[in-house]
Amino acid sequence: MNVIMGALPKAKAGIGSAMSTVFQTVSGAIGVAALGAVVGSIYTSNFVKSAASISGLPSALSQKASDSIGAAMGIAGSGQLSPEMSGSLAQVASNSFMDGWQTMTIISCVIFVVGVLVVLKFVPSRYVTVPVEAKDVRCPVCGSETTIRTAKKGPNAGRRFHVCNRYPECEGKFPE
Ligand SMILES: [Zn+2]
Repeated sequence: MNVIMGALPKAKAGIGSAMSTVFQTVSGAIGVAALGAVVGSIYTSNFVKSAASISGLPSALSQKASDSIGAAMGIAGSGQLSPEMSGSLAQVASNSFMDGWQTMTIISCVIFVVGVLVVLKFVPSRYVTVPVEAKDVRCPVCGSETTIRTAKKGPNAGRRFHVCNRYPECEGKFPE
């Protein structure tokens, strides 16, 4: 959010803010739906494979339990099955779910890392990598234009700072 706002000129801040809110909302919803679908489909396919090992599990219940871990746990706890069968069902369901969950976690990590790399590559940093004309950098305190000056004394001697043009009335400054 701050990165997006910082990259936009003031006049476009309104639309930038709106767009970034829309983007965050939409991508969040799509992300949750997509990752949820991944977990669900891995769960179902693993469950179908593993449930075959539970001998005597009625296929109607097995099919119902393959929908979601919630359905499986509901059946396991419903008393329709023998305690051993309920235990196996719960075990198979949670293993299948954890497999899906792990895959989803790996996918999320990959997406996250890719996102970070994209941001690092394409989003300009305001203070570090992109050379900025001093006059385009506004004072953080009063918003006036700034001039780059080199500190002559003190602990920061030799470092370059954007210093407010209204200095000394305004003491706004920050490192170049
Ligand atoms: Zn100032």
